[in-house]
Amino acid sequence: MKESHQIANVDLVKQMNSAAVYSLIDQKGPISRIQISEQSQLAAASVTKITRLLLARGLIKEVEQQQSTGGRRATSIVAERQAFCTLLIQLGQQQVTFAIMDLSAKLIKKNQINLPHFTQIDGFEQHLITLIRDFLAKNHKKSIELIAIGITVSGFVDNKTQHIHSFGNFPLSTPWALAHTLETQFNLATFIGHDVRSLALAEHYFGATKDCDDSLLLRIHRGVGAGIVINHEVFSGHKNNVGEIGHIQVDPLGRRCLCGNVGCLETVVSNSAIENKMQQLLEDGYQSKWLSLDSHDIEAICKASNKQDAVATDLIEYAGVQIGRVLAMSVNMFNPEKIVISGEITQAQNILFPAIRKTLESHALPDFVKSTPLVASELKHEDIIGAFAIIKRALLDGHLLRRLIKV
Ligand SMILES: [Zn+2]
Repeated sequence: MKESHQIANVDLVKQMNSAAVYSLIDQKGPISRIQISEQSQLAAASVTKITRLLLARGLIKEVEQQQSTGGRRATSIVAERQAFCTLLIQLGQQQVTFAIMDLSAKLIKKNQINLPHFTQIDGFEQHLITLIRDFLAKNHKKSIELIAIGITVSGFVDNKTQHIHSFGNFPLSTPWALAHTLETQFNLATFIGHDVRSLALAEHYFGATKDCDDSLLLRIHRGVGAGIVINHEVFSGHKNNVGEIGHIQVDPLGRRCLCGNVGCLETVVSNSAIENKMQQLLEDGYQSKWLSLDSHDIEAICKASNKQDAVATDLIEYAGVQIGRVLAMSVNMFNPEKIVISGEITQAQNILFPAIRKTLESHALPDFVKSTPLVASELKHEDIIGAFAIIKRALLDGHLLRRLIKV
């Protein structure tokens, strides 16, 4: 029998009960203790004890509700979101974004910094720690308590150990324990996740898939990846990483991909792939009223396609067909309630989405496709919210709560 199947111990039960109470307050507040007890099926005495701890820590507060029918004022509880903040880090090899957000997901400060080239991870980590110290010294107001660090990386992360197994071109002889290092350095609970998978979670908490149990988010940016939410949780599986649909082959005679194979979806529809293809078309003499060899980045291509520019429209439609082919396989496999596309390319959604849908309809099971909406991300360019989502998850599942209220 595996470890995870062992009977939960007392501490774990306490953590789960506290998490159940806090989640109800966070999501359904204002809510009364009686309602919490009914909805969580916890004894009234347990609810009272847990809310006392949460009140003492300032994580929740009491508010007077409307007069109840008996004339007595009912006291309800809401989550306190403005008194606490989080440090968010979105880490790439060449660039890092830092942000401070409060618990209502309000952005207080955000900074993007280009990183110098490092050949070894130790030097890179030291530089990162210095940058974090500087950012906090300049931007963190002591009046708002900093309670956690959330990091997302464009690399494989082991969700159980919180170790990074691959990151950019760095040769990692052993898994990189960045989260543990930051936890020690800053004495803050630290949570780490894959950037696209975390974005799928953010979309579920705050965006287009709030109303869904299951969903699929396809992220198109520098690379192409997906996050699959099943039953309100990001599916990661025993091997920790699921959703690399950017590396499904769509062109057997295509370009070599960073993964070593050829013709992956990423080599056809990533921002740079589309920009390079447009460059090639313009060099070959294709005419565009809006694009030139000097100006054909993804945003310009989307704008041109929205103005019915023929070459831009053809290229976006072509991308839509390739995306549709890969999504069709995913729909047949997972049958999600909703598909979300995230990335700059959604600025051309009037052209892109019909091409995706038409391909989906001819490549996936009709019954699956017809009931699956295809929408653009509602998070737009706030990638950093992925790092906030993993902190939010730790709050709702009790991992962070346990640290804060010492249950
Ligand atoms: Zn690939």
